[in-house]
Amino acid sequence: MTSDTNPASVDEAAPVGFQEHDHQSCVKTALVSAEARCEGEGLRLTPVRRKVLEMLLQEHRALGAYAILDRLREEGFGSQPPVAYRALDFLVQNGFVHKIERLNAFVACSHPGASHSPAFMICRKCDAVAEAQSTPARGVLGAAARAAGFEIERTVVEAEGLCPDCTEKA
Ligand SMILES: [Zn+2]
Ligand SMILES: [Zn+2]
Ligand SMILES: [Zn+2]
Repeated sequence: MTSDTNPASVDEAAPVGFQEHDHQSCVKTALVSAEARCEGEGLRLTPVRRKVLEMLLQEHRALGAYAILDRLREEGFGSQPPVAYRALDFLVQNGFVHKIERLNAFVACSHPGASHSPAFMICRKCDAVAEAQSTPARGVLGAAARAAGFEIERTVVEAEGLCPDCTEKA
């Protein structure tokens, strides 16, 4: 079978990040659900992992590893790069955080828990990032893959442009 086991979760979620929303409850809800998922799946959300996730949730913006390390240092978690990298590895591997290849930076997942192929919209002016869902098994790429007898397992979709705020100011 294909890796697209949960198609229903893919198309319906709206992109999160650009539009006005209750950000405080957005951060809180995400942290609570991350804690619940870790507990349910026996994953250890250590204080430093939790802190990194919280930092990324505070922003709807990509942060580089060094920015994360700086903040960890300010928060008293020490200044050893492996501390930040290990926490990021854990968060990425378990789907709480995505890596934005284009920026070599990290962003908190807007739809954690759902298995999905994220599609990122990255503002070139302010680095704001919104996450939408892509359905690589469908659409043009899916058709091309089927024609080639290729089974898509993972895609990276990173669109660059201007967010609504920056468009307004332009
Ligand atoms: Zn928010
Ligand atoms: Zn995601
Ligand atoms: Zn912008």
